[in-house]
Amino acid sequence: MTSGQTPLASLAFLSPKELLALESAGFVTVADLLTHFPKRYEDRRQFDNFPNLPTGKPVCLHGGVIDAGTKGFGKTRFYEAVIMDGSGGVFGSGKITCRWFNMPFMSKVIAAGQQVIAYGKVKEQGGRLIIDHPEIEIVSDDGEETIHLNRIVPIYKNISGLNQRRLREIIHSVAADCILHADQNPLPFPFSVSVNNRTEDLFETHFPTSAESSKSARRRFALESFFTLQLNVVWQRTRHLSQNGRVLGKKTTLLKAFYESLPFDLTGAQKRSIKEIIADMRAPRPMNRLLQGDVGSGKTFVALASMLLAIDSGADAALMAPTQILAEQHFLTFRKWLEPLGVNLVLRTAIWRRGLQPLSSTQPEPQAPTIFIGTHALLYDETLFTDLGLVVIDEQHKFGVAQRAALIRQGTLPDVLVMTATPIPRSLTMTIYGDLDVSLLDEKPAGRGKIVTALRTKPKQQDITDFVKAQLAEGRQAYLVYPLVEESDSVKAESATEAFPKWQKRLGAGNVGLIHGKLRPEEKDAVMEDFRSGKTKALVATTVIEVGVDVPNANLMILHHAERFGLAQIHQLRGRIGRGEHKSYCILLTDSKIPEAIEKLNILEKSSDGFEIAEADLRLRGPGDILGTAQSGLTDLRFADFITDTELIREARSLADQVFREDPDLTGIYANLRPFINESTAPQGAH
Ligand code: ADP
Ligand code: MG
Repeated sequence: MTSGQTPLASLAFLSPKELLALESAGFVTVADLLTHFPKRYEDRRQFDNFPNLPTGKPVCLHGGVIDAGTKGFGKTRFYEAVIMDGSGGVFGSGKITCRWFNMPFMSKVIAAGQQVIAYGKVKEQGGRLIIDHPEIEIVSDDGEETIHLNRIVPIYKNISGLNQRRLREIIHSVAADCILHADQNPLPFPFSVSVNNRTEDLFETHFPTSAESSKSARRRFALESFFTLQLNVVWQRTRHLSQNGRVLGKKTTLLKAFYESLPFDLTGAQKRSIKEIIADMRAPRPMNRLLQGDVGSGKTFVALASMLLAIDSGADAALMAPTQILAEQHFLTFRKWLEPLGVNLVLRTAIWRRGLQPLSSTQPEPQAPTIFIGTHALLYDETLFTDLGLVVIDEQHKFGVAQRAALIRQGTLPDVLVMTATPIPRSLTMTIYGDLDVSLLDEKPAGRGKIVTALRTKPKQQDITDFVKAQLAEGRQAYLVYPLVEESDSVKAESATEAFPKWQKRLGAGNVGLIHGKLRPEEKDAVMEDFRSGKTKALVATTVIEVGVDVPNANLMILHHAERFGLAQIHQLRGRIGRGEHKSYCILLTDSKIPEAIEKLNILEKSSDGFEIAEADLRLRGPGDILGTAQSGLTDLRFADFITDTELIREARSLADQVFREDPDLTGIYANLRPFINESTAPQGAH
């Protein structure tokens, strides 16, 4: 009998090699291994029929290998195994070809004569039905059928050095042998979450007796994991709020002058957000607020208003943006509105630091409260700020926790406003931004042209060129976006660099600019300036223009190889148009015939709601891909399937709230939860 704390090293049935493989993957105790939850299940009580058409969804097939060998020539060699339905189908219908590219070791794994289980999507190519890179498992007759066959079988994320089958056997032995008594619960829950006890749920998660029971068991562990996260979130939040911050924003002279100079009204949502920010700034605790708004919702003006309040109270304010293009653009916007008010404004980017001529930067009078705008360059100048009272971080998800903290540390408990246009689903907001107060810009400024999004699956270049020309003839401008900077051997897609001379030919050399991440900062700057001023009419670009770029006259975006972009990313890119009064067009081009790719792009045709798109993206890709690696905290959540389960997250939050209401310092009845507070991995906010 083992417990969760039992070291794997003491398990006699593990070979030294297996132990090494597990330990290298970070598994030390039995509990570590048991929380390696399956990524999916296969119901091997009944396999799918061998299809005779391509399938949109993955299928799980059980068959015999009738032929296997290395095929192809030159650079594209692959290992191929033809599998046949046990019932011996007719040619072309009972056979599926499995292929593995760049995996020569597959020749040592799969051979003719074996019985296998293959899982993957079937496509058609050259008259054959093919699964590329299926997940495959060899069926053997070694009497383990109770684990690998005739049941719902767990499929785990691979651990290097252990095959799926052996890993499953190991986890089965461990799970069958381990009792986690309720009183040994590693997370002492103050509540009950399942009809089963924890040990039963653990077993059900790995080797479910039914689809429903696996679901409810997983739900328990998902709730545990959300609860632990929320416990930390609420802990951080209460610690933070108990600190003494500064009182800013009592004086509103500059803000009023700014309002009066605006030729339009702020939206209701902008006004509401500014009000919420004023209240935070005036309160004697540090503001820790997230301003969330879809692309084009007008976050910049909210930032600007907040920064005016700060300097009116005598403090400095800093805005950090993730790219030089964006920082410079913010600088131009700010300068336009602030010059008449006589406010000190300084731009700090890589160019500036290298001593080149910045776009222009007003030198501040020494000691006068100043608004600083910049990139990471802001972080490396210790002497920049006199008294930093407000920190604004734009597109905050593009920064790591450490970078945000570095800027915040330049002040003494400054007020912090983080902004994001990545429309994070509501469920995730509560998970990763749970320690922040949230202001939502859920209203677009009036007078915006509509954006029409259209998917073209068999694009004709002449039609595209004609359409671009027609828009340019109307005086508009266009973004021509490509997934790659340069030609690539491995990816078959046109690159921006290849496309550029072609567009020059089509539209006239002087009318087209080229921008991508490999240009030097000052080159990017010059290209953007030409486009902004209208000197160039069309901009061949990569995703460097994804965030923030604001050229209202640009009303057309042609996205080439659209299938290569993420949903949320396309939505973000699409936010570059529809910023002026003109009707805008986002044309998604693809040659892809993969049904999912088309389906995915269809979502964009139908919806312009960033949140809806983000939820869809989350379902399609999982949270890691959406948030990037900079987002800590989420890597611990092994329950991507529950991430969209707002109810569960809400439940976890309210349980955490309840715990802290009854025992604010976790020194009383919930003292046993204190070890689950991790001081070193503060969540997203201003810590
Ligand atoms: P975000 O950063 O949220 O994507 P921006 O702050 O860049 O959006 O604003 C998008 C565009 O809308 C800019 O051109 C800006 O000048 C304009 N804008 C912002 N607020 C308003 C408003 N209340 N009325 C009209 N135009 C606005
Ligand atoms: Mg912005």
